[in-house]
Amino acid sequence: MSLRLFNTLGREKQVFESIEPRVVRMYNCGPTVYNRQHIGNFRAFLFADLLRRWLEISGYEVRQVMNITDVGHLVDDADEGEDKIEARARREGLDPWQISRENTETFRDDMRRLGVQPAHLYPKATEHIPEMLEIVRGLIEKGFAYRTGGNVYFEVGRFDGYGKLSGNRIEDLEAGARLEVNDEKRHPADFALWKADPHHIMKWESEYGPDGFPGWHIECSAMARRHLGDSIDIHTGGEDNIFPHHECEIAQSESFTGAPFAHYWLHTKFLQVEGGKMAKSLGNVFTLDDVEERGFSIRALRYLLLSGHYGRPLNFTWEGLRGAASALENLDEIALRLARASGAAGEPQGAAAEPEAGLDRVASARAAFVEAMDDDLDVPNALPALFGLRPAVLEGRLGREAAARGLELMREADRVLGVIEFQEGGDERIEGLIAARNRARDERDWAEADRIRDELLAEGVVLEDGAAGTTWRRR
Ligand code: AMP
Ligand code: ZN
Repeated sequence: MSLRLFNTLGREKQVFESIEPRVVRMYNCGPTVYNRQHIGNFRAFLFADLLRRWLEISGYEVRQVMNITDVGHLVDDADEGEDKIEARARREGLDPWQISRENTETFRDDMRRLGVQPAHLYPKATEHIPEMLEIVRGLIEKGFAYRTGGNVYFEVGRFDGYGKLSGNRIEDLEAGARLEVNDEKRHPADFALWKADPHHIMKWESEYGPDGFPGWHIECSAMARRHLGDSIDIHTGGEDNIFPHHECEIAQSESFTGAPFAHYWLHTKFLQVEGGKMAKSLGNVFTLDDVEERGFSIRALRYLLLSGHYGRPLNFTWEGLRGAASALENLDEIALRLARASGAAGEPQGAAAEPEAGLDRVASARAAFVEAMDDDLDVPNALPALFGLRPAVLEGRLGREAAARGLELMREADRVLGVIEFQEGGDERIEGLIAARNRARDERDWAEADRIRDELLAEGVVLEDGAAGTTWRRR
């Protein structure tokens, strides 16, 4: 079967078809860099990573762009009020540019620690002001937007498709927005494309006045268009992005270009903590450092965040992370046992006599894994296919050949999951330790050389010093 994805636009699972054969253009709403991203944010970004990897495994060339929001995202995702970055800058007496620079660096660092394959591009909103103004200008010319003083608003009533993503109706929004007092807007649901504000710290001159800054939604429309074109295949974000952010992006982009914007809209449900919302006031907004401080690996966090289906909420607990860490140890062990039984690390160990014994079991595990991933990236259904190999390999029921295929499956599965630690074969860490031991010996630091040898021995790795240098084997 081919890849099926749940498209928020249409609210159904659909067979994925790219605009250009074998090429996928994907835009992911990225971080607002006003503070450090928490583990909930990373759930959304890990989903983008998972999707990219699976598309590539499925034979697509993926062009992935994830933006950095460094201006214009107002508090509460609202249309009026303070800019998240500037609010922090004022509160703490800092420079907003420095805040975004530092948080962007930490973000890139955290993504590396999480083993995320970097996007091809991380464009910054502040570096795309001309592209945004081009769309704003075009929308005014085409009659979709209007100016009042230095502000420009998109008129939602002019775009027939408004509401097609979120299911919201303009009439209902009017009722809900009664409290918002803004006489400038023709309709309460109209949203800002450009705002005048002499007090904004980050501001730009334009035909609408000397001091303006972009609305949050126009940023993504402009960056997606600039780097991926008028029509893209996939757009992702967390579920909170559906409305107003993505609904507004569609309205702007499609009104401006006349073409469909994104064909597939994929949204990650929220990560909750201990069954509730994450909130600073509850002290449960965790970062990667919190995870490590509690003695867990970032690899275990990656596993936990990927192990739930992205379309369902996921509840984070420390107990759950402990469970994830031990599940991961099991996966590592399965890989190690498969390697030993296959003979990848010397003489086959723990293999059935008949080399092909269990081949059918491995083949069906592979089919189950692929089918689950193709079914809207159903990781919780794909993982049991891997764990299912455990009893057979522990009990020596797989032959050498079947174990080799099983190991191959684990490696392929890990190209999308990125969590397993493989220990067999030319292990880089072992080679690195041997090199360090050789350096110690060159420096006549025998104690250190022996310490390294003993460390490896404790792991079952035996070193042999010969004329041609040091070789190693598993005990
Ligand atoms: P922000 O930095 O607020 O712009 O958020 C960055 C991304 O993280 C957006 O795609 C949000 O939808 C997503 N996000 C925020 N909170 C959570 C959460 N608790 N669980 C999953 N995704 C989230
Ligand atoms: Zn966005």
